[in-house]
Amino acid sequence: MIIQEHVALQSFNTFGINSTAEYLIRVKNKDDIHHAREFAQSKNLENWILGGGSNLLFVQENQPGLCIKSELLGKKIISETSSHILLEAAGGENWHEFVEFCVQKNWGGIENLSLIPGLVGASPMQNIGAYGVELKDVFHSLDAFHFPTGEIHTFSKADCGFGYRESVFKRKYTGQYLIMAVRFQLEKFPRTNTRYGAIEQTLLEMNIANPTIQDVSKAVIKIRSEKLPNPSIVGNAGSFFKNPVISIEYFEKLKKEFTQIPSFSTNSPDQVKIPAAWLIEYTGWKGYRKGNVGCHPKQALVLVNYGNAIGRDILELSHEIKVSVKSTFDIELETEVNIR
Ligand SMILES: Cc1cc2nc3c(=O)[nH]c(=O)nc-3n(C[C@H](O)[C@H](O)[C@H](O)COP(=O)(O)OP(=O)(O)OC[C@H]3O[C@@H](n4cnc5c(N)ncnc54)[C@H](O)[C@@H]3O)c2cc1C
Repeated sequence: MIIQEHVALQSFNTFGINSTAEYLIRVKNKDDIHHAREFAQSKNLENWILGGGSNLLFVQENQPGLCIKSELLGKKIISETSSHILLEAAGGENWHEFVEFCVQKNWGGIENLSLIPGLVGASPMQNIGAYGVELKDVFHSLDAFHFPTGEIHTFSKADCGFGYRESVFKRKYTGQYLIMAVRFQLEKFPRTNTRYGAIEQTLLEMNIANPTIQDVSKAVIKIRSEKLPNPSIVGNAGSFFKNPVISIEYFEKLKKEFTQIPSFSTNSPDQVKIPAAWLIEYTGWKGYRKGNVGCHPKQALVLVNYGNAIGRDILELSHEIKVSVKSTFDIELETEVNIR
């Protein structure tokens, strides 16, 4: 078991930010994780988990402690009925490849989540979502290694406390668990979900009238490839901010001044969600560039590293955007990306 020291992390995060891990260990099985825990305890080190690095902004030049890079692989069928399949994927599996595997087998439920970067183990962290589907819609349970005790704990959907880009792992249990395996309940005779965003329009352009889940996956890939900057070309971590949720009462008040302000319904009849991209664009940040950092010209929610930006430059830009949005709309934007 190799533990590396002073490891450059630039190629391990989609922002492409230079930062150095004090120690780094690649874990491929349970024994490796135990070993990592013992090493961290023996040196009194904090440990932190690295997946695909697509939802992380490194603001420290040196990352103290032990970086545990999840490389646990494997997929297996746990059980099957005539209508459903319960499938387990190890935390180090690539998310999009896992989606493609399921789509090819015609197991439906996650096709709308095609092309989201990162690994399976991080998917429950922020209850990933796109095009009208969230991880929680297909989530069954997960196994996670608990660093304080060295035990493996199983979490049901209710235990995970999923919310909009939220789970207990993101806040309550920060840094305590490594998600080792996730189980998904998928449909063998899938119904497609094409109502959200540009999916229907894209399927029309593709001349598809009765789409299969394979078609939906292709449409989502097409939309995402056209709309979102590719991190291998320009560093980014997808949406930097969450869409704010505000009361209907406050929304009605805002509408009087900002007549074009859009909104989406939420699960609560008293609240609406406002697209953060609209607020950012309205305040003039879309396409803004200062040195090596900027707000993407096609997608205002995405902050980008055009070259050799440091994490603090991106964080600073995010603060400036927050201040603008706050002073114009009296709405606090919340950061979606994990800062460390
Ligand atoms: C171009 C682009 C588009 C994106 N689009 C979307 C989108 O549509 N929807 C969406 O929800 N997200 C989106 N994202 C964000 C990102 O892809 C997801 O949040 C993804 O799940 C992060 O996975 P990761 O493996 O890269 O996690 P990392 O960035 O490595 O880690 C993220 C956080 O999870 C923790 N973590 C990682 N793995 C584990 C584990 N096994 N156990 C415990 N903790 C862990 C880390 O410590 C960190 O705090 C996008 C990102 C990019 C770059």
